[in-house]
Amino acid sequence: MARYNTHQKTAIISFFTEHQTKSYSAEEVSSYLPAIPRSTLYRLLSQLSAEGIIRQETGVDRTSLYRHLGSGCPEHMHIRCCRCGRTEHLDAETTRLIEKLVASSSGFEALDSTIFEGLCSDCMKERK
Ligand SMILES: [Zn+2]
Ligand SMILES: [Zn+2]
Repeated sequence: MARYNTHQKTAIISFFTEHQTKSYSAEEVSSYLPAIPRSTLYRLLSQLSAEGIIRQETGVDRTSLYRHLGSGCPEHMHIRCCRCGRTEHLDAETTRLIEKLVASSSGFEALDSTIFEGLCSDCMKERK
């Protein structure tokens, strides 16, 4: 088993701790932490997700997005601004409602790890 530099792992953890309200793709994390080689970064991201420190979610275009895991987050879905990366928690009621609608229209069980994408209110204002 390859051993990873603890410093690299700490750098990734502090990056997510400092940006708790946002989610990032591996490419975005890489642009903030250019000192960490891509292959190492990918492995550390999946290791940290497995350890429950960050959470891996799947965006609508199937990109993996990573985010600091807040308490209670596995119980609800999230929505991410595709322009600035801001991520909001959808409340449990909204999550259940979406699950119901998905189940009745498709028979599928939607996963709580689903992350929606859209434009936040600030970005909508700026676009005008
Ligand atoms: Zn949450
Ligand atoms: Zn935004």
